[in-house]
Amino acid sequence: MINLYLQQKIVSTKEFLAIKSSLQSASLSHAILLVSNDKLLLDNFTTLLTCLYVCNAGQSNAENNAGQVSLLGGQASLLDINAQSPCAYCAECRKILNGTSVDVFTYPTKDAKTTTLKKKIYAEDVSEIINQSIIKPFGEKKIFVLKEIDSTIEQATQNRLLKLLEEPPKNVYFILSATSLDNVLPTIKSRVSKVALPMASASQISDYLLDEGATNDEARLVSSLVSTYEKASAFLQPAYITANNVIIDILKTVGEPNFFVLSNARLAKDRDSLFISLDVLEIILNKVLLLQIGQSYDTIDSSGNKSVANKGSLGSSHIAEHSLSADLKEIAKALNKKKVVAVLDQIIIAREQLVFNVNVQVVTDALLLALK
Ligand SMILES: [Zn+2]
Repeated sequence: MINLYLQQKIVSTKEFLAIKSSLQSASLSHAILLVSNDKLLLDNFTTLLTCLYVCNAGQSNAENNAGQVSLLGGQASLLDINAQSPCAYCAECRKILNGTSVDVFTYPTKDAKTTTLKKKIYAEDVSEIINQSIIKPFGEKKIFVLKEIDSTIEQATQNRLLKLLEEPPKNVYFILSATSLDNVLPTIKSRVSKVALPMASASQISDYLLDEGATNDEARLVSSLVSTYEKASAFLQPAYITANNVIIDILKTVGEPNFFVLSNARLAKDRDSLFISLDVLEIILNKVLLLQIGQSYDTIDSSGNKSVANKGSLGSSHIAEHSLSADLKEIAKALNKKKVVAVLDQIIIAREQLVFNVNVQVVTDALLLALK
């Protein structure tokens, strides 16, 4: 489902407006690749773009440009597309949002039995796309949406899409998305228009959280910790809030005699919650590290790769009032920098171990030993 706050933000980005204007001028690229490390933003942008392609207001205008008859008439539809498209409430938009459009094919597909999303786009999906692309659409356009292709499609399978991306049949459009360009074939990259989505600012993340029902304190805290809507949204889940409290407690007791035993008992014992704890630990330790090397509080990025991005939207004075700030300062004093870096490295190893089904207890022990 589309988040209303994100919808308003996305349709007014210059990236979205640029695509909209190419649609209006009938110069729309047949294949667009959206790139962002923020999966929530990526997903919402992809859906809204799909709506834009078929929205009644948008469609009637495209017809005008192609010199065809428009039911709504020239000027009126021009106003519509400028002001409202994608409207997210017309019949066509609703079909996209409900996943019932007969001209839109989204991959990975859902598992027929469990209705959960599959993890991959398989070779047979690509065969289906190739076969389906030559059948005329019911409406104006046939759209193939391929999500997170950097992780969902093996490169050999990506290869099979090349010809189609280069010379798609008339009225066939591709909307591809990727969290990074690393695993996308250069030959794919060269055949699509790449659009890098803008990163969320701290104030946007804070507004998004408030819109989602977070309190002022929560919004301030989380927007100072994370730099994507995706992580911000995760932090609103009870599992993250619990993990945050547990991790802060654990970090405050490093060096105490019973640290290993007590922390072991408190850290997650199952795979999924340990993944969450690793996310939270990584975000907190990146903050701690930056405090230790003297970065000011509001210029701290938390994407997990130790990069520093100045969002500049929230003053440090706001955040300093929060108790988390005192906790982090205390932790920054108690832990030495080398250890923080070692634990951050261990987090990366721990994630790999979990992916390869190493026993959760073994992973937890190694992590706590690095902290001890
Ligand atoms: Zn619409």
